[in-house]
Amino acid sequence: MSHVFPRHCHSQLPTAVGGEGVWLIDADGKRYLDGSGGAAVSCLGHGDAEVTQAIKDQLDKLAFAHTGFLTSEPAEALADLLIAHAPGDLDRVYFVSGGSEATEAAIKLARQFWVEKGQPQRSRLIARRQSYHGNTIGALSAGGNEWRRQQFGPLLLDVSHIAPCYDYRDRQDDETPEEYGLRAADALRDEILRVGPETVMAFMAEPVVGATAGALPPAPGYFRRIREICDEFDILLILDEVMCGMGRTGTLFACEQDHVDPDILCIAKGLGAGYQPIGAMLCSAGIYDTIAGGSGFFQHGHTYIGHPVATAAGLAVVSAILDRGLLAQVQAKGEALQQKLEARFGQHPHVGDIRGRGLFRGIELVEDRATKAPFDPARGVAGKLKKAAFANGLICYPMAGTIDGRRGDHILLAPPFIISDEETDILIDRLAGAIETVLG
Ligand code: PMP
Repeated sequence: MSHVFPRHCHSQLPTAVGGEGVWLIDADGKRYLDGSGGAAVSCLGHGDAEVTQAIKDQLDKLAFAHTGFLTSEPAEALADLLIAHAPGDLDRVYFVSGGSEATEAAIKLARQFWVEKGQPQRSRLIARRQSYHGNTIGALSAGGNEWRRQQFGPLLLDVSHIAPCYDYRDRQDDETPEEYGLRAADALRDEILRVGPETVMAFMAEPVVGATAGALPPAPGYFRRIREICDEFDILLILDEVMCGMGRTGTLFACEQDHVDPDILCIAKGLGAGYQPIGAMLCSAGIYDTIAGGSGFFQHGHTYIGHPVATAAGLAVVSAILDRGLLAQVQAKGEALQQKLEARFGQHPHVGDIRGRGLFRGIELVEDRATKAPFDPARGVAGKLKKAAFANGLICYPMAGTIDGRRGDHILLAPPFIISDEETDILIDRLAGAIETVLG
């Protein structure tokens, strides 16, 4: 009997024993094409020699030094590299061990910023429905994923959830994508005015929505308008790029493509590429200086922040993304993947939408293409697809539709940036097999 507490109490999981490029190998020798990089984690694939060597070298030098006493060379170098490429005036990096820790730190930083500015009444966070920002209690409060939240209420934060920017379902027939983008963004303005601008500390959103909406990009102009609204009312903009950041969409940070500069930016997953658990929160000089000039102390912290081995891995990963020309490859391979998905599934009676950016693609499945009616959640389509694909040797990330029918089941694809043409074809063949098994 296994003593590991699994995600699903009754699941009998195969044991992973190896990884090579886009492939994972289990104890029986079965090979799985890692079509979602786990959950958009393994951007460099498995067994990257340079990253592995960087970790070994760091271990030989120094495994751990507590950041209450000492900083380390890899943490300093990774912070410098991230800031050199970060948008806007992001100026400081706070290293953590994963995505939830990054968003949790962002929320606490935003709150402390306003307290130190002498505006403690700013305690409300505005986020969006169908969003996910992590599983720790603050991050869970911020997210609008009812399925994950339902057992844990009442949650901690004052949070409002506005409608997501969801072109496929919410754009009206007589609206251009740009008009829709402005209308969707104005939901933020309406909510700020409803609750009182003086009570709002920040707005938090994912530029390209991953787990809760299947690689859903914003409508053109949406985030520029969001930035204007935040500026109008002096509200901080927190972007959660835990999934869509680190080159996944073809630029190092997804928000670069929306021409928007956040006050706080959260990254994780692709930052360590699965080689080490690491995340980070980047904040603007203005936020840092307020705290530095006030209490002088961010009232937060974990034992493993700035871990030397984790930051050494992050440094090797980001260097690889930048130095191996992977961003251009993600753009080209992403376009090719979209075209292949459209060619193969574009006319399928149960494929409603195929979308995304770079190597971050989602397929929304529907009962009826014409009405966009989702499947009855009781059918468990996404879960069955995950199972059928896995049996077929393909890992893809499923998400069940919402109970209120506002979103259909979907599959998220986020393959390693090193995927070849042939491997992309295998991915699509295996996915087609799974769709055929489950939906006919
Ligand atoms: N934010 C987003 C957008 C995510 O997709 C995730 C993880 N799926 C998280 C936060 C939480 O990250 P972690 O699981 O590393 O805590």
